Amino acid sequence: MSPELTNSYNSISPNKVFRGDEAWKDGMNYIPLICKSPLLLGKSNSTYKIRQTIYNDLKGIGINPINSELEYGCCEEDLQRISNIILEKNCDSVIAAGGGKVLDSGKLLADRLSLPCITIPLSAATCAGWTSLSNIYTKFGAFINDKSLKSCPNALIFDHGFVKSAPKRLLASGIADGLAKWYEASLTSSRSNDGFVQQALQMARVLRDQLFIDGLEAYRNAESDSWVRVAEACALTAGLIGGIGGARCRTAAAHPIHNGLTQLESPKMGLHGEVVGFGIIIQLHLEERYSKNKLATQAKGQLIKFLKEINLPTTGKELGIENISSEDLQKVSNFSCNQNSEIHLLPFKINKDVIKQAIMDNISEKTFGKLSDIKIQ
Ligand SMILES: [Zn+2]
Repeated sequence: MSPELTNSYNSISPNKVFRGDEAWKDGMNYIPLICKSPLLLGKSNSTYKIRQTIYNDLKGIGINPINSELEYGCCEEDLQRISNIILEKNCDSVIAAGGGKVLDSGKLLADRLSLPCITIPLSAATCAGWTSLSNIYTKFGAFINDKSLKSCPNALIFDHGFVKSAPKRLLASGIADGLAKWYEASLTSSRSNDGFVQQALQMARVLRDQLFIDGLEAYRNAESDSWVRVAEACALTAGLIGGIGGARCRTAAAHPIHNGLTQLESPKMGLHGEVVGFGIIIQLHLEERYSKNKLATQAKGQLIKFLKEINLPTTGKELGIENISSEDLQKVSNFSCNQNSEIHLLPFKINKDVIKQAIMDNISEKTFGKLSDIKIQ
């Protein structure tokens, strides 16, 4: 038996997933089975009203939530401060209601303190409500690393009414992040002998097809069936793919490029999925150039056309890095290409100069499609 097929464990999914227009009502009645005095974590002003509804509803059923907000994101400064609040107030669980950084922080706090965790995503921008993984950043937003958690959340409540109130830019961002599953895993995991990985990969392919078919309609009309399929694909199915595929269903270049770009700590830098979408374009560009994959050219054209339709950035200029200095470009490529980066799982060799050039080749429409000749040592 191949060593790849032995000794593996997966955290596949939350214990309970509530989804639909009534998800909050159903999920709320489940919460007393898990906890009595949760820390209710959130962040932005834009979700305040929903979090207040959650707070009041919980009070109404005899639960005693303690409100708390992140100041920056999933960073040690916030994690330490909120961890102290949980201990001081004797909270018996964490309910995280918000976007990716809130969900990741809530999961990580619960994991560190061995408490149950309930996630309530308030957008479809990421699958962080589902997974047993948290991304840790500096307080300025630079990616540091990801941390595997002991398990997926105890419950996930995906209330369509809550999620629909998020700006549609967040849905578009989630679509790009969901698409990355296929583009990345198909490159790094297609030769795996593990049935779970093979099945996860096929799910990622179907997910990509659904996003291409339904994405535009979902973006235009939140009352459509397409919206339900797309929002759940981005926030739920993408997480399930990560759960089944596990550590062997890896990222390739799109996420490492994202991680590198966050090192610029620019407040103007786009949302996670927006930067990842640009990362997929760079990845296809690298494939086109270095694995001489003709299909990559087609795939890149198809992807760019689709991303444009849902108003996502497709060039460095649109991402706000048109005038990136050579020093900053070096910083991005150093991080993307560091020795622990999954970019080295690409089926061809890569180095820092290649990454720098690929970004510059895609900096604006003028340079688009340019395949500069960089030697790979
Ligand atoms: Zn992502």
